[in-house]
Amino acid sequence: MNVALRPRTLSDCIGTGDLLEKLRISIAAARKRKEPMEHVLLHGPPGLGKTTLAYVIAHEMGANIKVTSGPALSKAGDLIGILTNLEHCDVLFIDEIHRLSPTVEEYIYPAMEDYKVDFVVDSGMHSRTINLPLKPFTLIGATTRAGLLSPPMRTRFGINHHMDFWPPEDLLARARMSAEMLKMPYDETALELLAGRARGTPRIANRLLRRCRDYAQVKGDGRLTDDSVTAALQLEGIDELGLDDLDRRFLRTICEVYKGGPVGIEAVAATLGEENDTLVDVVEPYLLQSGLLARTRRGREVTQKGAQHLGLKITPPAEDGTLFDTE
Ligand code: ADP
Repeated sequence: MNVALRPRTLSDCIGTGDLLEKLRISIAAARKRKEPMEHVLLHGPPGLGKTTLAYVIAHEMGANIKVTSGPALSKAGDLIGILTNLEHCDVLFIDEIHRLSPTVEEYIYPAMEDYKVDFVVDSGMHSRTINLPLKPFTLIGATTRAGLLSPPMRTRFGINHHMDFWPPEDLLARARMSAEMLKMPYDETALELLAGRARGTPRIANRLLRRCRDYAQVKGDGRLTDDSVTAALQLEGIDELGLDDLDRRFLRTICEVYKGGPVGIEAVAATLGEENDTLVDVVEPYLLQSGLLARTRRGREVTQKGAQHLGLKITPPAEDGTLFDTE
């Protein structure tokens, strides 16, 4: 049974700091005025709840949601088609909004501000502009890179929120909620163990829980215990800080190939054979937040804590600048 683990209402949502309260107020006010809610920009690493909140907002507004993404809207016509089909107070969710093409972006501004689109038909002497009024709607944009968003775009959102990694108590609550939805018997300490290794990310907590459930059902009696969680996570290559194989390869490459850094991200990506974007969006944020990696103007550096975690002995800088003894 593959149960959807997303909460549907605000009251089912867990954590995310003061954001839920802010949304609760904005939604209640908008509903009172029978207006759409303000446009919302959510930014932060993947798996922290941006898409979930978009669905929850639409549900709370009693509206429909249309989901798309920056790269999918390659032509202005695609966007116009979607916008003209929105009903009063509907939500348009655009994931990876930083990847919208500049031409498409131009059409979004008047749509967000004045609920209209202007588009030009024909060309030369016969060209004319058609103004299409739209029904008032809410745009929810999600991005892993707020820095790549153009300033005119960023300023058009009334609510602009950075999603942080979740604190352990929220992750534990999420793991408990999922275990109950999946009707899985568990020991509280086993859930704590799992939540502590979920990289501050609810999506990862859910994924690990499913892996541990498989393990417990095949190797044990189906109950999540400390032993079954430990063994399942070990099999998945998740260490005690929650790092996976790619995280460790990333740190190890900087230590072993680039003498601990500083090194540019492109060089590390080339050595690992990974995409730059994967490293910047998925791998780095958690390593930075856990103090295993530092980002300086000269590039990325593995910290003492990072080297120690890999079991590399730090030696005083040698003549050649080597920081790490990789024996
Ligand atoms: P993003 O869009 O940021 O990549 P998602 O919205 O897909 O992240 O969230 C990943 C998973 O985390 C969801 O499937 C859901 O199970 C869980 N989740 C996210 N936000 C919440 C929340 N506020 N409360 C409970 N669970 C959540």
